[in-house]
Order: sequence, then C-alpha cells, then structure tokens
Amino acid sequence: MWSCDTCGRPNRHNPLICETCGAAAPGADANQVNLALQRDLAMESHLRGLAFWYRIGAVVFGVGFLVLFGLVGGALVSSPLHGSSALMASAFGYVAMFVVAAAAGSYVLGHYLGRFANGARIAAAILSIVGLAFTLLRFVLTCVAYSRLSALYGDSSLFADAQPSLMGPIVMFVLSALWSGAIILTLFSGRAAQVCSPAYRTIVARTAAMKASMVKTPFFVVPLVVTILAAMVVLRLLMAMRGLY
Ligand SMILES: [Zn+2]
Repeated sequence: MWSCDTCGRPNRHNPLICETCGAAAPGADANQVNLALQRDLAMESHLRGLAFWYRIGAVVFGVGFLVLFGLVGGALVSSPLHGSSALMASAFGYVAMFVVAAAAGSYVLGHYLGRFANGARIAAAILSIVGLAFTLLRFVLTCVAYSRLSALYGDSSLFADAQPSLMGPIVMFVLSALWSGAIILTLFSGRAAQVCSPAYRTIVARTAAMKASMVKTPFFVVPLVVTILAAMVVLRLLMAMRGLY
C-alpha cells in the first residue's frame, strides 16, 4: 500500500501506477510504468468478472448436479433394474454426460476469458446472444400462456384477484435482457477486442504484477449479490422445512 504523490489517493494493489491519476508509483521502473499506462484496467476488470462466474458457475452447477444425480442414481440402482429403470438409467447417463460437458466447457471458457483469449471473448459473446434468444422465446411463450389463461377467466370480476399478472415475467424479462445486452455490447466492444489482441496480451505479460480488480465491475458484483440473496432464500426455506418436522 502506498499513497500517490500527485493525487494523494491510496493504492493497495497496483505496484506500478496510481489507479486514480496514472502517476508512477515511487521507485517503479519507467519502462514498466510506460507499459502499465497502456493497460485498460476497467475493461480487464469486466472480462475477469465475467470469467470468474463462468468458472464458479460451472463448479457450483456441476457439483450440484452430481449430488442430485448421485441421489437419483442411487435410488435407481437400489431398485431392481427392470426394463423401464434400465432405460431411465441410460437416459440419466446421457443427461449427466451433457451436463458435465457443459460445466467443463463453461470452466474452460472462463479460464481463457480470464486470460483475455480472443476466441473465448467471441465464444462468450455468441453464447450470450443464444441465451438472449432463449430468454426472448421463453417470455413470448409465457405471454401466450397468460393470454390463454386470461381468456379462460374472461371478464368476470369475481376472479379479478385470481387472475394471473404478467408483471413478474415482464420485470424478469427486462432485467435479464438488459443484463445479456450489457454483456454482449461489452464483449463486442472495440475496447474488449483491444484487450484480447496479441499485442495487448504481451503488455499484460510484461506488467504481470498489475492485476485489474474484480470488485470494480458490475459483472462480478451483481451476480455475487444475487447469489447471496438466493442462498439466503434457500437457507430460510430449509429452516422452514426443518421446522415442519
Ligand atoms: Zn494518483
């Protein structure tokens, strides 16, 4: 930790330059400082934040699925394998293979995106576009289902309270579309392409002591907050279930 002579701000993790004003750190090599000033720490932080969740998501999703799979598989094995159980077991095998492959792919993608590989940037952007398309499709299907339900209820004011509202799905759709859109725009931006260029990666390798902080990007912080909230909801549900027995 050192204080910048120019702007007075403290710098905790950057041994080369002040992250507020770009002044050289005391005693830093002039060559290294020159290279350090060419780094786009904000964009690096976005890519590292996204990469983190590709990896952690893969681990959490993969482990969660394997636990669930172990439980179901155990139940299948303990019952005698009649025709239908055997068929179920092989279907589960295929699903497990698919999930493990998806988790492994996500982990590898995160690994290379965190190292600013251009292929990983493009792959992640395409996956986000596919994800956005699925979100849109799900929303349209939900709207169709709701309009059918509404037609079923008719105009009768008797059921006005019971009538389903589209508010929740609309909010969810807008939020996830904005989120995917932000990721797609970021990954396809010129700055992201610049960070993933060979010349830039050489600069990163030569100023390896300097690492972009992940806590400065919403791509790291927002999923973290959502994950913590989800974990709290699950914990409360588990407590409530224990209280029932
Ligand atoms: Zn400064």
